[in-house]
Formats: sequence, structure tokens, C-alpha cells
Amino acid sequence: MSTVNSPIHYIKEIADSFYMITTPMPFRLGHVNAFLVVHDKEAALFDTGLNMSGTLPKIEASLESVGLSIENIGHIFLTHSHADHCGVAGLIKERSGAIIHMSEEGKRHIEMMKDEELRVKRMRGFLCLHGLPEKTLDFIAKMFDRFKDATIPFEVDEILNPCKTYETCGRTFKAIPTPGHANGHNCFYFGNENILLSGDHVLPDITPNLSPDLFDPEFQPLNAFLSSLDRVKDLPVEMVYPSHGAPFPNLNGRVAEMKEHHRERTGLILDAIRKGRKTTFQISLDIWGGNLSQFDKFLAINETYVHILELLKEGSVREENNGRNVLYVVA
Ligand SMILES: [Zn+2]
Repeated sequence: MSTVNSPIHYIKEIADSFYMITTPMPFRLGHVNAFLVVHDKEAALFDTGLNMSGTLPKIEASLESVGLSIENIGHIFLTHSHADHCGVAGLIKERSGAIIHMSEEGKRHIEMMKDEELRVKRMRGFLCLHGLPEKTLDFIAKMFDRFKDATIPFEVDEILNPCKTYETCGRTFKAIPTPGHANGHNCFYFGNENILLSGDHVLPDITPNLSPDLFDPEFQPLNAFLSSLDRVKDLPVEMVYPSHGAPFPNLNGRVAEMKEHHRERTGLILDAIRKGRKTTFQISLDIWGGNLSQFDKFLAINETYVHILELLKEGSVREENNGRNVLYVVA
């Protein structure tokens, strides 16, 4: 890896004319990484960061440090539809005419997100059915409202073809479908450099949050996530560049840790259900305790639910309905 040839600390050259740009974001994560490849006067961006003050100036200054500007960005490739990954894609496209590439499901999500009211209604319905207390529901609804502008609305121009090899800025890479953290997530694999841009699929310090796709009831997030881990684990990767956290070399080892983590968690959730009929929220209390922040309660109920989906599918548990909430019992 070559060293930074720029005085700015948030851009790092990770291979020849291949850069990691770190932009700010709120919450515990604090930052998100985007990636830039350049060739002559052409540039391509992989993810863009969140729409908040500080993101675009950092991308602009990064481009300037390599003698380019936003107008040189011809292509934007997006790992998934979450705001911290595609927040300013629309702004950049407006200025440079860049072509935005994303998965089919990602495109569908971007369209859905334009109807904020419907999205919040679905979210509320799901969380209510699974027992999240009213106070937490209100907090989550307010949070969604506060971050509704975190993504500038945009149109996806090109659908990423599963496992197709793309050529951009004198480089080749493959889009590898890795649904799980988000339906339609893609990793980008640069075979010549042995680099994997892992998005939020493989992270060094945390396991990516899994949640149901409220617009696609067929989507099994945990099952998809585990299969997607298998899809990348044997790639000859020297360095993984995640969207959050520092780059790391041991892809296979990290995948094994994450798979083990989920196997254990499924076991704990089944144990909690064995102790008696419970809502998803009550099960999450058994696992994480009651002292979580409102936001963590929201993450916990989602995470618990995706494990329950697997237990339902394998026939270990079944659901009952008390007219207000769904409850789970051993089958
Ligand atoms: Zn993210």
C-alpha cells in the first residue's frame, strides 16, 4: 500500500490511483468510507457518504488533491441503498452527469424511500406487531423524520449485473451480489489488486445489522447474509476495505467469526423461546437486557426477528397471534 500523497488525512491512496475517502456520519460509527479510482481526467466513485455538511466538501477536496473535480466523476457504483452509502449520489450526478449503477433491489428501495410516509407506516406496523413499546416507536419515527433528507433523491441509471466484470478508469472489477445487511447489497472485487470493497457486508469490528425488508416479505435476511458470506470468503483477497472501520487482511477468518456469532445467537433466541411464549421484543430483552438505548432496542428487535425467521423456516418455532402482537412458541 502506498502512503498518502496528500496533506489531507481523510484521503488515502490504497493502490495506484485508487483512493479511500473517509467522510463523517452521526451515530456511534462516526464515519463512512467511499472509494475513488482515477485515470487521466476520468474518475469513478464507489459509494458517496451521507448527505450532511462535511461530506461533499471532503469529496471535493479529495478530488482536488488528485487534480480533479466533481465534474470528472463519470460513474458512481453503489453497494446498497442506505443513506450513508448513497446520500450525495444525486448531488454529484446533478453536477457531473455521472451514471449511477446499483442492483435491481437497490433501485427498488431508492424508489420506495421517496414515499417516506408509506415507509414509516410499514415500519411502525411491523414494530408494533412485534411488541416494541410505544415510547421507542415514537423515538424511531422522530429519528426517521430527522434523517429523511439523508439521501438526496436520485434515479438509478444502470442495473448492476450479478458477477459481471466491469471496466472503469482503466481497471476491472466484479460486482458480487451479497444480499443480507440490505436486500440488493453488492461488494466490489478488484481481482488485479486483490482488493475487496466489502460495503457493509463484512466489517472488521461489528456484525452488520440485519433487518427485514418491509417491502419484500420473501426476503430472508439472515439466510441471505450467511450465503453471501460464503460467496466472498474464498476470494483471493489481500485486503478488505469496509465502509466502516479500518481495512483488514483476513477475510476468511472474519467471515468465520461472523458465522459463529450468528450460530450462537440463533441458539440463544431458541432458548429464550423455550422458556415461554414471547413477542420478538420480549425475546430481545432476554438476549440484550432492558438497559439498551431506544435506538439499540430498535436494532435488537430487528436482529431478533431475522433469527426467528430462520427458526420458523426450519420448523423449530411457530407463531401465535393474541389479536395485538405476534408471539413465538416452540413447535
Ligand atoms: Zn453503512
